[in-house]
Amino acid sequence: MEIKVKNCKIKIIQGDITEQTVDAIVNAANPTLMGGGGVDGAIHRKGGIKILEECKQIRATLYPNGLPTGEAVITSGGNLKAKYVIHTVGPIWRGGNSGEAELLFKAYWNSLNLAKGRGLKSIAFPSISTGAYGYPIDKASTVALNAVKNFLEKENGLEEVIFVLFTAKDLEVYKQKVSEIFNL
Ligand code: ADP
Repeated sequence: MEIKVKNCKIKIIQGDITEQTVDAIVNAANPTLMGGGGVDGAIHRKGGIKILEECKQIRATLYPNGLPTGEAVITSGGNLKAKYVIHTVGPIWRGGNSGEAELLFKAYWNSLNLAKGRGLKSIAFPSISTGAYGYPIDKASTVALNAVKNFLEKENGLEEVIFVLFTAKDLEVYKQKVSEIFNL
């Protein structure tokens, strides 16, 4: 499925984000930036030690107490096909009244802004927060799609944004939400 906002294509596919050939893939990291389970583990396993070393450097300099929820940082892509990895931290789902939507929106927005600031053209996102962090996929997909739509309406430079969903079920939820949010 493919749509357009101004000059930027938005694609929604099922797949493995570590296999994407794009300028940057986004990692649903945790504040330690030291790797973890889910997509974070997969990115570090396939990307190799270089990514972890750069994350350690970021911890030692910019974020000694860890990366706050909603913020984003960038490392190289190590052995991945992607040139860069943008690491962001989504919120843990606590029922929906703890600022989760705003924090998830920020995680997407700050990742896009970092990519744009570096002059990157293509970026791929996983479904941030909907694994171990427990954010319901129907609510998270609404936030994710709105964040990308709003960003692209306001900012120029990006040419391709890909949502890479791991499961067929998540892909179906995203397709449904896309038609609502983009009035298809
Ligand atoms: P979080 O802690 O932010 O919830 P998780 O990694 O636990 O992060 O889950 C986020 C989403 O990433 C889930 O929907 C999970 O199915 C998905 N996921 C796991 N591995 C991959 C992968 N290799 N490529 C794309 N998505 C993945």
